[in-house]
Amino acid sequence: MREVTCPQCQLRFKVQDLAADAYAPFCSQRCRDLDLGNWLNERYSVPVETERVARMMHREGEEYDPFAAGE
Ligand SMILES: [Zn+2]
Repeated sequence: MREVTCPQCQLRFKVQDLAADAYAPFCSQRCRDLDLGNWLNERYSVPVETERVARMMHREGEEYDPFAAGE
């Protein structure tokens, strides 16, 4: 038994086995998802960068069309 602090909500909780815990080091799936959301928001916080990346991905998607290949 180990007592850990959730990095998202600061809740102290006990886990039997940290390595086997699906949401570790978070207390729940909600906190894990929230943290992931924060990370993504920070990563793409600049609107111009987001638009550039989106356009780049769109262009790549047009170039590679698995359904058009082989026809
Ligand atoms: Zn939490």
